[in-house]
Amino acid sequence: MTAASAPAALPAGFAAGPQTDAVRARFAHVAMRSAPAPMAALSHGVGATVWDVDGREYLDFLAGIAVNALGHAHPALVAAVSEQAARLVHVSNYFTTEQAVGFAERLVRLTGAGESGRVYPANSGAEAIEAAVKLARRTGRPRILAFEQAFHGRTMGSLALTGKPSLRAPFEPMLPGVEHLPTDLDALEAAMGDDVSALVLEPIKGEAGVVPLPGGFLTAARELTARHGALLIVDEIQTGAGRTGDWFAFQHEGVVPDAIALAKGIGGGIPIGALVTIGAASELFSLGQHGSTFGGNPLATGVASAVLDEIERSDLVRNAARRGEQLREGILALASPLVTEVRGRGLLLGVGLDRPVASAVVAAAMDRGLIVNAANESSIRLAPPLIIGDGEIEHFLTIFSASLEAAT
Ligand SMILES: *Cc1c(COP(=O)(O)O)cnc(C)c1O
Repeated sequence: MTAASAPAALPAGFAAGPQTDAVRARFAHVAMRSAPAPMAALSHGVGATVWDVDGREYLDFLAGIAVNALGHAHPALVAAVSEQAARLVHVSNYFTTEQAVGFAERLVRLTGAGESGRVYPANSGAEAIEAAVKLARRTGRPRILAFEQAFHGRTMGSLALTGKPSLRAPFEPMLPGVEHLPTDLDALEAAMGDDVSALVLEPIKGEAGVVPLPGGFLTAARELTARHGALLIVDEIQTGAGRTGDWFAFQHEGVVPDAIALAKGIGGGIPIGALVTIGAASELFSLGQHGSTFGGNPLATGVASAVLDEIERSDLVRNAARRGEQLREGILALASPLVTEVRGRGLLLGVGLDRPVASAVVAAAMDRGLIVNAANESSIRLAPPLIIGDGEIEHFLTIFSASLEAAT
């Protein structure tokens, strides 16, 4: 193997098994060079546990980046995939299905969008944001405001909104009219005007290391956008579907946005996204102005409905709130000298570290059978499945404590 195709080194402290190494080497040959070296090659999972191709077991506290809301191989998801696959997988947007309509109705109900609520079904988070960008353009106003350090996706429209200059720079010129502000009400007030089409924001910046908006910020942003006739578009791609202990994070502050971008957890692992609009925003698109071949596909929408139904039936939204508090208290009680704070809400938590050792913590955790994520070098992101209970939390705290110690 040439040096150029060798897998990138994993952080010291985690040595993968031989089968994993073999798959990683093949990955390094065939994957686009934009793909990072995989931590492991996973084989199967049950609940909050996954196994790699060497048979090593891991407690999964990342859940495919806040995607596997029901964990792995949940019977409700398995049944929905199997039954829908045997019935009808795809029909194109020349037709509709009971599954597509039921999914849209469910999102309207859960978001509280009400009578004026409308849904555009997409296939990913970035596509939900692309729809939001086109929606903003339909106001006829040229400017879109977003925040520094925000993450909204990697396609050209969603990348333009993403507040990390290093991600945008290789692909300039960007979509014109987008401005990134510090997450600060004075900056927002100064930038806001009647030429602003939309403000796009995450209630909690997940990719930035789980950084919540300051208390009251969302309410103030709603007042300011309303005063100037600008849309407030909330990106709930990571925070939605019960993850933060409410169905959607905007509901904690009781604001009503104009549009909500969704993906990740709403499908429990099936690729799906959606843009939900409310009120006048539901009238901005006219016939034929947006669409997708796969969007609203009965397999994806049928499975997403089953996932959302199970979250409701088993009250996993409340479980996320309760387990999130339990986790936060448990982590703080470890009294690790590395841990400065636990940010976030429900089961989307960011553990702040006092030095840049997050990838060493991740490697130490992998070595001990735990998957967590280094959102950046001073933050560990936790986004376990919403189904976790006392057993998983206890197991997590034991391994996480040892991993922090190993990285100290
Ligand atoms: C993951 C994510 C996206 C992009 O979603 P993809 O499905 O990866 O395209 C956008 N916004 C937020 C907040 C996300 O967490």
